[in-house]
Amino acid sequence: MYWEKEIELLSRADLGKLQVERLKKTIEQAVRSPFYQELYRRKGISAESISRVEDIRELPFTTKQDLREHFPYGFLSLPKKETIRLHSSSGTTGNPTVIFHNRHDIDSWANLMARSLYCAGVRDTDVFQNICGYGLFTGGLGFQYGIERLGCLSIPAGAGNSLRQIKLMRDYGTTVAHAIPSYLGRLYEVFQEEGLHPKKDTQLHTLVIGAEPHTEEQRRRIEEMFGVKAYNSFGLSEMNGPGVAFECTEQAGLHIWEDAFLVEILDPETLEPVEEGETGELVMTTLDRQAMPLIRYRTRDLTRIIPGTCACGRTHARIDRIAGRSDDMFIIKGCNVFPMQVEGVLLKIPEVGSDYLITLENINGIDEMIVEVEVKKDWFNGDIARLDRLSRQITHQIRDEVLAKPIVRLVEPGTIPKGEGKAVRVVDKRKLEIVNS
Ligand code: ADP
Ligand code: ZN
Repeated sequence: MYWEKEIELLSRADLGKLQVERLKKTIEQAVRSPFYQELYRRKGISAESISRVEDIRELPFTTKQDLREHFPYGFLSLPKKETIRLHSSSGTTGNPTVIFHNRHDIDSWANLMARSLYCAGVRDTDVFQNICGYGLFTGGLGFQYGIERLGCLSIPAGAGNSLRQIKLMRDYGTTVAHAIPSYLGRLYEVFQEEGLHPKKDTQLHTLVIGAEPHTEEQRRRIEEMFGVKAYNSFGLSEMNGPGVAFECTEQAGLHIWEDAFLVEILDPETLEPVEEGETGELVMTTLDRQAMPLIRYRTRDLTRIIPGTCACGRTHARIDRIAGRSDDMFIIKGCNVFPMQVEGVLLKIPEVGSDYLITLENINGIDEMIVEVEVKKDWFNGDIARLDRLSRQITHQIRDEVLAKPIVRLVEPGTIPKGEGKAVRVVDKRKLEIVNS
């Protein structure tokens, strides 16, 4: 059992008090790091500046750029010898970002993860297969510690190798698995190639999906393919990794753990709070981290707080599924487009498989949005007219949604290149760089 009742049901007023207390402590801790020491001294900020949660609005933001510029130890608030682990991003576009943890941080992260899994209905009687890269990526060890704390039998399967994943599931009677959503379509195909069906040939009842943006349509497809409930898990390495926000069994938004994180939703342009329930950029402050507190970190993720209370009784606010990152948005033919809008259209069409790729390219002086879409294999039986009709249908539906007309190319399953990590949804050849990495 891992149900932190005293914290998860705390009244909003008490949660607010706890946040103020923890925010003050966080500031005291943060100013031990070179970065915050210099910044806060210059601006005359100290823990005394805070008496209400809203006072946080007076503090400066922290950005990914700050983390990169002060790489590797500029944010460390403890002597190095007191830290016990680091996680870092890949750093393909410059210095990687790195986050350090001491024993307290790892412990409280494991609690958050266990609490999150419990809230999605996972119990200590479950056999939990973590289909996720172990190593610097936070999804491996982050989940591992939570699964163990909850008391499930854990299978640290790692990413990829679908045949082995299926064998593990069947050998040990896996009941819950965690994977990125874009991988699960592939896994299902391998089940089919093997003449197996997850509903009949495994004991899976729950999937935990996260780490990359996906639509409600994609969740529904995953639930149907595997005959399970699929719960959305949100996190980012700057805020530990997974265990930041998680869906409960109501599937009505993701509870964001407000005893550990202070949440603001701001207009990304003005950086002022949006109206209640409106979408904006998620800005987060750690409230329970010692080795590397972060204050007003701009996640660039776009979401909103769902107004009202959750039927499960938990008092912690719920965020809506992530609509995208402010830097995912691209402009084509004068229209602002988020990849998830295109996904939403595609996955409503039953003939369409789960892989697609948007390429932005200048063709004869005109910027075009080329959407490659995998459709089911039996569509390539020579009936060109049928393919053509489907292609036109998809073109119109995307245009109706995003207002720019795409060039749609239907391709066979397996055509779109796929690595082991998060799916790349947009390649912008106009700038010769990958947008959604
Ligand atoms: P990277 O920035 O290299 O992808 P992270 O592993 O820290 O490294 O990824 C965190 C980001 O992944 C989040 O900021 C968010 O954009 C995305 N993400 C994580 N979980 C979800 C989710 N459940 N839904 C949508 N996006 C998610
Ligand atoms: Zn709930």
